[in-house]
Amino acid sequence: MAKRIYTIKGPVETAALGLILPHEHLFTDLRGPHVPGYAQGEASAVIEVVEPYLAEAAAAGVTALVECSTVGVGRNLSILQSLADSTSIHILAPTGVYRDAYIPQSVRGMNEAELVSLWTKELTEGIEGTSIRAGFIKLALSDDGPTELEIRNLRAAAMASQNSGAVIAVHTIGGKIARQEMDILEEAGLDLHRFIWVHAQTEPDISVLKEAAQRGAYIELDTVGAPFQSQPELLEMALALIEAGFIDQLLLSHDAGWYDPASADGCPSHGFRGYTALTREFIPELLKRGVTEEQIRQITVNNPANAFGF
Ligand SMILES: [Zn+2]
Repeated sequence: MAKRIYTIKGPVETAALGLILPHEHLFTDLRGPHVPGYAQGEASAVIEVVEPYLAEAAAAGVTALVECSTVGVGRNLSILQSLADSTSIHILAPTGVYRDAYIPQSVRGMNEAELVSLWTKELTEGIEGTSIRAGFIKLALSDDGPTELEIRNLRAAAMASQNSGAVIAVHTIGGKIARQEMDILEEAGLDLHRFIWVHAQTEPDISVLKEAAQRGAYIELDTVGAPFQSQPELLEMALALIEAGFIDQLLLSHDAGWYDPASADGCPSHGFRGYTALTREFIPELLKRGVTEEQIRQITVNNPANAFGF
């Protein structure tokens, strides 16, 4: 059967898609789930801020966008539905949960089997009583290594992925933690082709990225256009992975956005970053360095379709 991505508006055949951004943010609340007003917002206010950026991305050729703001950092299904209605871009919502400090009490208290059942249900039936299916599993690990709860989350995600076919994307800072995490996922039966190392650019040693790719992981470089990231360095990382034969596992995104319900004007303190640096700046640089249009298509269309399709 042809693979599909599961979007807010329903399943879409991956063959029908063009450029897909595998890691972005639309509506994000980093205050954590215990703060009053957490993840609340007026849909109209969110659309007013975010829709122009989506229109700009659509005009630049973006056909689908993966919303990585998972449970604990602002997932709000009704806001995402309103946004999906405002744009031609297909939006994927996550299941899963953010890192330890952001895990809501309800999820904290579940055992591994209960989490497997919740996440499998969100991926195969729907989220929060709707028929809207989550498009993937998004987790995060603490920067100094996975806590006990985060290890539980990895194991549960591995099972939910095996139950559904969905990919697991995990915020992972540095190669030491990535290695540990891949061991845990493999022990739980996961084929690492269903794993995305999110923020892989945080590991400066390219040989560690290649090692992860060798084990099957998707390598996501997700600071395209970010002012805090050297773009020439990111370009060299991408080229090194292509040269080493891992073009089929390379993902590129901005990790940009987003509407912030904690701020008066809805924009985060760093300002709203849009979703077009990849098409306008990064891809032209790759082409200048000899990457072909066909290879660009592999990286920006086929790879995310293969990663998120199931
Ligand atoms: Zn992110």
